Amino acid sequence: MEVIQHYKDGALFVSESGRRQSVFNPALGEVCAEVVLANEAEVNAVVASAKAAWSSWSETPALKRARILFKFKELLEQNQANLAALITREHGKILSDAMGEVTRGLEVVEFACGLPQLLKTQFSDNIGGGIDNWNLRQPLGVCAGITPFNFPFMVPMWMAPMAIATGNTFILKPSERDPSASLMIADLFKQAGLPDGVFNVVQGDKLAVDALLAHPDVVAISFVGSTPIAEYIYSEGTRRGKRVQALGGAKNHLVVMPDADLDQAVDALMGAAYGSAGERCMAISVAVAVGEAGDALVERLVPRIRALKVGNGTSADVEMGPVVTAAHKAKIESLIAAGVSEGAQLVVDGRGLSVEGLEQGYFLGGSLFDHVKEGMQIHREEIFGPVLCVVRVENFAEALALINRHEFGNGVSLFTSDGNTAREFSRRVQVGMVGINVPIPVPMAWHSFGGWKRSLFGDVHAYGEEGIRFYTRYKSVMQRWPDSIAKGAEFTMPVAK
Ligand code: NAD
Repeated sequence: MEVIQHYKDGALFVSESGRRQSVFNPALGEVCAEVVLANEAEVNAVVASAKAAWSSWSETPALKRARILFKFKELLEQNQANLAALITREHGKILSDAMGEVTRGLEVVEFACGLPQLLKTQFSDNIGGGIDNWNLRQPLGVCAGITPFNFPFMVPMWMAPMAIATGNTFILKPSERDPSASLMIADLFKQAGLPDGVFNVVQGDKLAVDALLAHPDVVAISFVGSTPIAEYIYSEGTRRGKRVQALGGAKNHLVVMPDADLDQAVDALMGAAYGSAGERCMAISVAVAVGEAGDALVERLVPRIRALKVGNGTSADVEMGPVVTAAHKAKIESLIAAGVSEGAQLVVDGRGLSVEGLEQGYFLGGSLFDHVKEGMQIHREEIFGPVLCVVRVENFAEALALINRHEFGNGVSLFTSDGNTAREFSRRVQVGMVGINVPIPVPMAWHSFGGWKRSLFGDVHAYGEEGIRFYTRYKSVMQRWPDSIAKGAEFTMPVAK
C-alpha cells in the first residue's frame, strides 16, 4: 500500500507518529493509499526546516526567486495531465475538470512570476530639507497554508507561489482526503531549483493544524475550508498575534430574471450546480427564479438533470463523478431528507443511483428541489453536493434582499438582458464575487479571490495584489545625508520646511 509522507528539507520526511488514515478512490469506493498524520514533534521539525531556510531565501533577489517560479510553471505545464490524474483518483472530479483546476492554479504561478515588478513601491523625492521617503514590502517569515479537499492543487497554488515569490518560506497542510498532489508540487518545486526548506508539506489532521497554530515561528496562516474551521483558525491564530486569512463556506445564488435568456441560464445552472458534483465553493446551489421565470426554468432543468452522465471521472464522456467519501455522501443524503421533511418539493431525487461496474463508488445523481423557502435547512446550510434548490420570488428587490440576508457571501450570479438591473445588482449585493451572465465568477489570478460575511475571516482576499499585501509587511523609510542636516536639537513635531 502506498504511504503518503511529509516533505521537508527538499526530501520526503518519513513519519514515525504511528498515526495514519486511508485515502480512497471515490469512484471505486476502495482505499488507494494511506496518508501519515503528523504529531506535534513532526510539525515542529518541519517548522524548524522552514525557519532555517528563511534567512537566505528572504535575501534572495526577487528576480532570482521569480526565475525559479518560471521554471516551476514550465514543469507544471509538462506534468498537467499527471497532476490531473492524481486529483481525479482521490477527489473523483472528471479529468477535464481536474485539468481546468490545474490551469487555474498555474495562472497564479504566472502572476507570481511577475512579482519583481509588483514588489516595487512608492518613492517621494525631497519631502523637505533633503529628506526622501519611500516604502518597502518585506517578507514575513514562515507561512502556513491549510487547504480543503475540493481543490487539492488549485487552492495550494493560491498561497504557495505568492508566499514564496514575496520571500517567505511555506508549509502546506493539505486535506488528508486527497493529499497526493501536495507531494507532486513539492517534487516539481525541487526540480525547478527551489532551495531546500522553502516549500514543505505536513500531512495531518486537527493535531497538525493545532501544532501550526501554536507554533511561535509560524507568523502567518492562510486557510481555505468550511466556515466553522475558518472561524476557529482565525480566532486562534489572531489571538496568538499571527496574520490570518481564513476563507470559509458558501451558499451561492444565481438569480434568473424574467428577461434572461432561459436556455443560457439553464446551461449555466447545469454546469455550476452539478459540475464537480457540487463540491466547489463557487458552485451554484440556489437558483432564484424571479416572477414568471420559475415554471419554465424548472421544466427545462428536469430533463437535463435526469440525463446527467454520472460515472468514473476517468471516462471521457462522463459529466459528473462521485462525491469525495462515503461519509460525505451520507451527509448529502441526510440533507436531501431534511429538505423533503421541511416541505420543499423534491422534483428530481439523485439518491440511490448505482453506476454499473462501480457499485461501491460514492455516486449520487443530480437532485433538484423546487419551492424551497428561506430558512429551510437546505437553504441555510452548504450541502456541498449535486443538489440545486429553486427559490421563487416576486421581483428583483426580493431576490436581492434574500441573498443579502444569507450568512454567506462568497459568490453570486445574475442572468438578465437588462444593463440597469445588472448594474444595480453588482453594486448592491453583499457578496464578494459577482457574475453577470457568468455562473462561476472565480476572479483571475490578478483580481484576488474572496467572499464577504461568513465566507471570509480576515481583511484581505487571496492571491493577486491582495495576496502580496498578505504575505508582506509594509515599511516606511526616511533618509537624509549629513550635508542637509541643520545644527541643533528640535523639540517640535518634525514638519516639512
Ligand atoms: P474542512 O474545513 O473540513 O477542512 C479544511 C482543512 O481544515 C483541512 O486541511 C482539514 O484537515 C482541516 N481541518 C478539518 N477539521 C479541522 C479541525 N477540527 N481543526 C483544525 N483543522 C481542521 O473543509 P473541506 O471539507 O476539506 O472542504 C470543503 C469546504 O471548503 C466547503 O465548506 C467549501 O465551501 C470550502 N471552500 C471554500 C473556499 C473559499 O474560497 N471560500 C474554497 C474551497 C473550499
